[in-house]
Amino acid sequence: MNERKICKRCLLAESGQTDLAQTLAELKSAMPEEEKTDPAEYERRLTICRGCGELSDGTCLKCGCYAEFRALKKRMYCPHENKKW
Ligand code: SF4
Repeated sequence: MNERKICKRCLLAESGQTDLAQTLAELKSAMPEEEKTDPAEYERRLTICRGCGELSDGTCLKCGCYAEFRALKKRMYCPHENKKW
């Protein structure tokens, strides 16, 4: 049996789901530049997500979004009740 393990606290790019990670990379590159947050803020957000218990296999369990996509949008915010970013 070859079952894939759920990767807690992994972003999609780190989870081994290469097809999904590729699709996400394409969606991210298609986002208009003016809608993207700056690289430093993007990394700050992802660092927080990596340490969050709500991150599972790249998905935020609070909202169902892929964390990397949500964090890239400038106007987005963390949906956690403590609004982590
Ligand atoms: S709750 Fe916030 S910090 Fe946690 S994974 Fe979701 S977006 Fe990231």
